[in-house]
Amino acid sequence: MLDPRRSRQRMVQELKRSGITDEAVLQAMGTVPRHLFVEEALRVQAYEDIRLPIGYGQTISQPSTVALMTQRLEARPGMRVLEIGTGSGYQAAVLAVMGCRVYTVERLAELYHVTRNLLQQLSLRAIHMVRGDGTLGLPAAAPFERIIVTAGGPEIPHPLLEQLAEGGILLIPVGDRPRTQCLLRVRRRAGRFLTENLGPANFVDLVGSHGW
Ligand code: SAH
Repeated sequence: MLDPRRSRQRMVQELKRSGITDEAVLQAMGTVPRHLFVEEALRVQAYEDIRLPIGYGQTISQPSTVALMTQRLEARPGMRVLEIGTGSGYQAAVLAVMGCRVYTVERLAELYHVTRNLLQQLSLRAIHMVRGDGTLGLPAAAPFERIIVTAGGPEIPHPLLEQLAEGGILLIPVGDRPRTQCLLRVRRRAGRFLTENLGPANFVDLVGSHGW
């Protein structure tokens, strides 16, 4: 790769053309060095709009998916955000650069350790990483104003609904078979849960007590 900064700016221009309007999302994705979140051999492809393998059968979502999810999350500086499925750590890094206080949970120990080292090297201190089953949420740190699940399960795990703050937003891909999903957005208003279907999604499996 010749110049990651230029590739990143090109990626941001593409995201704008595809309809991403949240300036904070564009700014964060123009800052986070996405090429460092993928294996060395794949770095030349890091700024193309494709998902890439990150080992252990998992993937880093394509930039347009991360941008759209983050825009739909309506994340604002200072918010407490819970992410389920840390993976490469890229989504968590984007949220942290946007000024959110990020809690992120990963079930695979190896991925957890690799990503923890990377996030430490990048000095992203606003990210609190936990290894465990994210379908149980993180009761000790709840409630969260935003919850984003970056893996798809058969249902919305009820602990996540319980840990969503009043006025909060939860984004989660849900489907009745693995890897065919719809992205759901749930808003908690006056103690009720209002669910919208935002269309088809394609994430790796959410595996756990309230997952596959
Ligand atoms: N957000 C990631 C992409 C994640 S891929 C990124 O930016 O790179 C989905 C991740 O969810 C995988 O790492 C997978 O191991 C993890 N995962 C699946 N089920 C989980 C669960 N119950 N709790 C926590 N993590 C889970």
